[in-house]
Amino acid sequence: MMGTSCSITVFRRADEKYIRECFDILFAIEKRISAKIDDSEIGLVNQNAGKSAVKVSPETYALVKRAMEIEKLTEGAFNPLVGRVTALWNIGSGEEKVPSKEELAPLVEAVKRAEVVFDDSASTIYITEESAALDLGAIGKGYSSDILASYLKKKGVARAIINLGGNVYAVGSKGRGKLWNVGLRSPDGDGIFATVATKEGAVVTSGAYERYFVSDGVMYHHIIDPETGYPVDLDLLSASILSTDGTLADALSTAVFVLGRDRGIELIKRLGVNAVLLTKERETIRL
Ligand code: FAD
Ligand code: MG
Repeated sequence: MMGTSCSITVFRRADEKYIRECFDILFAIEKRISAKIDDSEIGLVNQNAGKSAVKVSPETYALVKRAMEIEKLTEGAFNPLVGRVTALWNIGSGEEKVPSKEELAPLVEAVKRAEVVFDDSASTIYITEESAALDLGAIGKGYSSDILASYLKKKGVARAIINLGGNVYAVGSKGRGKLWNVGLRSPDGDGIFATVATKEGAVVTSGAYERYFVSDGVMYHHIIDPETGYPVDLDLLSASILSTDGTLADALSTAVFVLGRDRGIELIKRLGVNAVLLTKERETIRL
């Protein structure tokens, strides 16, 4: 689901019954926020971009508001309004082609001009540009992991691992005084290049090496520089963020990847999160 594979692990047989409900929760979130589903709340907001405000559930309203706050925090490196640009590239679909500059330019301009208008009392969202649209692909799995983690905790589950396509959330503690060890997959093969030890919380990675296509010998991956509309070509192979806030960790992993090593490190320090960066020179930086 959500274009990836998702797994939930519990450690007591008695907790197994909650796994089905977790997947039902995931299905419901996907139906509500996927830009790939025409009649999802986000789908409807996008279809009405530049036309009219759309009423959404309080949950979706809060998520989009949070996403736009993080957009500001990252000075637009994470920008959920890139939806028409990502739809044009359509990376991951198996039918990708490199768009022409003429196709891309007006969409990139629209992303720069676009704003999201929120009406708190009416719970409506309005995108001011017809050629801009929301894509919550860079925040939605972290958001979902937060919801599942609080559901499991509410049910009294003391220990669990939620893995939504590489967005890992460790629930509870591994055992008395023990930390969870989360492996970060190497871009070069099946092994791992680093392990992070963490207490409860999210470990979220953005990288260029899983979702991409090759055209005329050039590799195009799925993380877009909102300034240019093209996949970012910088000095990082991957960026992993650790935080008890999975939503933030997901959005920040994408933002740091877009910003690259130096500006990414600045952002990580400014926000006081922990991170592991892998550079193109295969240097591992722990912050
Ligand atoms: P991240 O770095 O977390 O996110 C990258 C994604 O965010 C890109 O794929 C793009 O969509 C978007 N993005 C790119 N650049 C930026 C930027 N600068 N700022 C903000 N956002 C950016 N994929 C499918 O193929 N089919 C589906 O049906 C499908 N449904 C989904 C439903 C939901 C609810 C969600 C959350 C995702 C869905 N996906 C689907 C997307 C797929 O799983 C993505 O590969 C995934 O969200 C990207 O996550 P990541 O951790 O690899 O990278
Ligand atoms: Mg992300």
